[in-house]
Amino acid sequence: MTAPAFSQLGLHVLAKPIGPICNLDCAYCFYLRKQSLYPADESWRMSDETLEAYIGQYIAAQPDSVEEIDFAFQGGEPTLMGLDFFARVVELQKQHAPPGRRIHNSLQTNGILLDDAWCEFLGRHNFLVGISIDGPADLHDKYRRDKKGDGTLGRVTAAVQRLSEHRVEFNALTCINRHNADHPLRVYRFLRELGVRFIQFIPIVERCGDVRPRADMPPEAMVSERSVLPGQLGACLIGVFDDWVRNDVGRIFVRDFDQALGAWAGAGASLCVHAKHCGRATAIEHNGDLYSCDHYVDPAHLLGNIHQTPIAELAGSARQEQFGTEKETTLPEVCRRCEVLFACNGLCPKDRFAYTPDGRPGLHFLCPGYKAFFSHIAPHMRAMAAEVQAGRPATGVMHRLRAEQQDKQQAARGEPRSVGRNAPCPCGSGRKFKVCCMRR
Ligand code: SF4
Ligand code: SF4
Repeated sequence: MTAPAFSQLGLHVLAKPIGPICNLDCAYCFYLRKQSLYPADESWRMSDETLEAYIGQYIAAQPDSVEEIDFAFQGGEPTLMGLDFFARVVELQKQHAPPGRRIHNSLQTNGILLDDAWCEFLGRHNFLVGISIDGPADLHDKYRRDKKGDGTLGRVTAAVQRLSEHRVEFNALTCINRHNADHPLRVYRFLRELGVRFIQFIPIVERCGDVRPRADMPPEAMVSERSVLPGQLGACLIGVFDDWVRNDVGRIFVRDFDQALGAWAGAGASLCVHAKHCGRATAIEHNGDLYSCDHYVDPAHLLGNIHQTPIAELAGSARQEQFGTEKETTLPEVCRRCEVLFACNGLCPKDRFAYTPDGRPGLHFLCPGYKAFFSHIAPHMRAMAAEVQAGRPATGVMHRLRAEQQDKQQAARGEPRSVGRNAPCPCGSGRKFKVCCMRR
């Protein structure tokens, strides 16, 4: 089977209807700095004309194979556009949606403005809401502050509560930074106790503008003091994984673990960062400017404006295809030979500013952390992929680990095995323990 052409792959356009404008002043918001891209008197609000052009063109740009079209709104803080704007979004989507295609919306927000009216609207229209939350108060409020400098956790957890009451589907976007990375279990268990079932970890990597990385430079000299360090990230992901794999498989969904399972099961990654190529996740600004990626909103990666050239043409251009394939063609040799390349794929090119062990440029800053993480989870992922491929739930791995742990504890106390050889396997497969998990 031949691979589909670049322009026939599913396209994602992340909308920034209010540009970088936000009601908070989070220390590491990379987007606030984008205000300098546009004139000082810019209005920053997406007009009705641009919104309709975006919705119509985005739907038209989807290949026939795409059954569900995903709209995503981010900022800045998109709720500053007000509820009327999003009511208009839904109205225009209905007008432009072709028969047989489903439309789905997601909204990334800090949650501050989510009152009952917002939550009722989001629930009624099945929005998926991403809430930015970095852990308990001493961790979250370290960097996520309002313009007066006050912490925001109380207002964010109130929003989470309201979303739950209105049965709005939501997930947590949790930035992993220098401060909270050393507390993976506190962060993870806090989110779990808050009722979060879907978690996306976003590592914070901020370059120091005037620092040129060198091969002999320690990682902390290359980035801001808020940025997570490679070793910290690896230990953080491993810490969360070890708790999750023993307690929460099938109950809590952590994007990094889902992506890894996809890779081990042979399905590949859907997230651009772990995919072989990227380039099909573009970003649209409030005025209709389309950029190669949310992380490359800069003049060099401006594809054009949708009022002059349709989204399909801009996003399907040879220039954008090259942007996407360069993720693979610019990989350093050490990645090409890496045993976890199939799961990692060299990560996002934006942060490939570190040096390989043999002193060559182009390695991702967080490589050692991800490598430690992927190596650590490999045996568990192999076991889970085997369960899934055999048509059984991946939760079997959790039961096996628990049984092993119990056995170890009993052996240490000089007691016999908790599960007899001929007893039903604790993984729930329905087979005897001796022919199931006991063998693995
Ligand atoms: S773990 Fe490191 S060396 Fe391996 S593919 Fe990822 S970035 Fe490259
Ligand atoms: S540049 Fe990075 S964030 Fe952007 S699409 Fe590629 S991998 Fe994803």
